[in-house]
Amino acid sequence: MKKVIIVGAGISGMTAGIILQNSGFSTEIYEKNPVAGGELTGWKRDGVYIDNCINYLMCSKKGSAMNELWHEIGMLDDSVKMYSKDYFFKYIGHGGEITYWRDKERTKREMLALSPEDKDVIEKFFENVTRAESMIMPIDKPMDKMGPRDFMKLGDFVKNVPAAQKAYKGVSVKDLADSFKSPVLRSSCLLTHPEMTQAYSFIMSYAMVTSGSGDIPEGGSLAAAMRIANRYQEKGGKLHLNSPVKSVKINGKTASGIVLEDGTEVAADYVICATDANHTFTHLLPSEYMPKKLRKCFDDKEHFSVFSKYHAAFVVDGKMNVDPDTTCWESDGIKVWDREIKDIGFICYDYDPSLTPEGKTSIQMKLFQYGKEVDNWFELAKDPEKYEAKKMEVAEALMSEVEKKFPETKGKIRILDVWTPVSYAKHCNAYRGAYMAFVADRDTKTVTTPGVVKKLKNVFLAGQWLMGSGGLPPATAQGKYAAWRAWSASKILIFPAFRGCLKNETAPVYL
Ligand SMILES: Cc1cc2nc3c(=O)[nH]c(=O)nc-3n(C[C@H](O)[C@H](O)[C@H](O)COP(=O)(O)OP(=O)(O)OC[C@H]3O[C@@H](n4cnc5c(N)ncnc54)[C@H](O)[C@@H]3O)c2cc1C
Repeated sequence: MKKVIIVGAGISGMTAGIILQNSGFSTEIYEKNPVAGGELTGWKRDGVYIDNCINYLMCSKKGSAMNELWHEIGMLDDSVKMYSKDYFFKYIGHGGEITYWRDKERTKREMLALSPEDKDVIEKFFENVTRAESMIMPIDKPMDKMGPRDFMKLGDFVKNVPAAQKAYKGVSVKDLADSFKSPVLRSSCLLTHPEMTQAYSFIMSYAMVTSGSGDIPEGGSLAAAMRIANRYQEKGGKLHLNSPVKSVKINGKTASGIVLEDGTEVAADYVICATDANHTFTHLLPSEYMPKKLRKCFDDKEHFSVFSKYHAAFVVDGKMNVDPDTTCWESDGIKVWDREIKDIGFICYDYDPSLTPEGKTSIQMKLFQYGKEVDNWFELAKDPEKYEAKKMEVAEALMSEVEKKFPETKGKIRILDVWTPVSYAKHCNAYRGAYMAFVADRDTKTVTTPGVVKKLKNVFLAGQWLMGSGGLPPATAQGKYAAWRAWSASKILIFPAFRGCLKNETAPVYL
């Protein structure tokens, strides 16, 4: 039986592990943290759960290959309740209000009533939201291995999605916002995505919700990560926690296994690096082995940027007068570093009773952090006292804005936890604290990098950094592709059950 070692128990690494276990391989995952899940995680403070990932789960609706994969790895399970939000988010400001309802016709009506002079921009927006509802993640096999027949199978996706992308070619989220005359609509566009992101990304995210997807599994991200880790172990996989990997051991054109930070060497037939791409090529493998496409993204900072966030979690004694959803508003403004931020908002976790203690409201506030702002957090973290003070200063400013907007919280709200880009770097070795991958600007195509290392025959890559701007579906798909590549590389020696697959280069059903 061929042995595969996987570095990293994020969703990508665990997906690769589950699929390979299902396919007759022996696998072991080495994870540096005491808990599996990577960025798909959550934790408790003062008995209150703090979720740190799933705001919306793409393909939560049954009927797509990605949804089947969610079930295969345990992200979803028919016994797990799904929570469906009524809207994507709501914005209140400039004397008006707009809600991006799940029912897009309602949103359209409300936008037209709010700003009839924006009719053309609104019509175009909804025409392309409808097109983007066909968005599916092609996951049968790696995209670089797909032929015309594979693309044909994608149906409406091939027709509609490129048309929507073309309609917003060269348009950033900021450009889209600026195209609205209404200040309410303008501000609302800038809340969910970094402003340099292609406008299409915002449209696609909203389309995910309007298409009936984007639901959240009960128990949130940590429970999902635990289900996936359990599924992996039930399938016979060995999960080694608290086991940081120092490097992949290379002999010429092959890897013979890995070396752990404590010096232990573990032999393997194949190695899958399911870690942050920068970490992979600054620690695990020589940097000159980085695939050219990835190198281009890291080097071309003008067109490919990364972002992170500042987060603060709060608990309110009592119930707030808000929907359990994302509510944003025009505040008096808070200053973070050199930037005055007026439009702020929170996610209220009341939609899932298992996430909030009885009689309390749990909310989280997040602020995008870019470029120099990210550097500032890393610089400040060198002095723990100053770092803590700054974290709390921002959290208190945010809390005071909540008290002003929602008077029922006055004196009843307190800070539970605060975390920054530095937290992601520490927790997941995340490049500049980024928990999503590269943001391609309006003039640039997003890049998909094949998960192979040209100079090494038996090392494959997984993880969100290989695909577009990242997120759970790309990370999971890339885990599956890495399993496909290991299977593909080993197929000369495979057992009879797989022989039919050899003829047409298609992996077994579960690959
Ligand atoms: C606040 C937040 C909200 C998000 N919201 C959404 C959302 O709503 N929808 C969505 O689709 N996505 C969302 N994401 C993004 C999503 O979480 C990530 O895209 C995804 O989890 C990345 O998975 P991964 O396996 O590629 O990487 P990671 O999760 O980073 O996994 C890599 C693993 O490798 C481990 N590791 C690193 N170095 C080593 C080493 N040397 N040795 C051993 N182990 C190592 C890390 O500890 C980690 O566990 C969100 C993320 C965050 C943080």
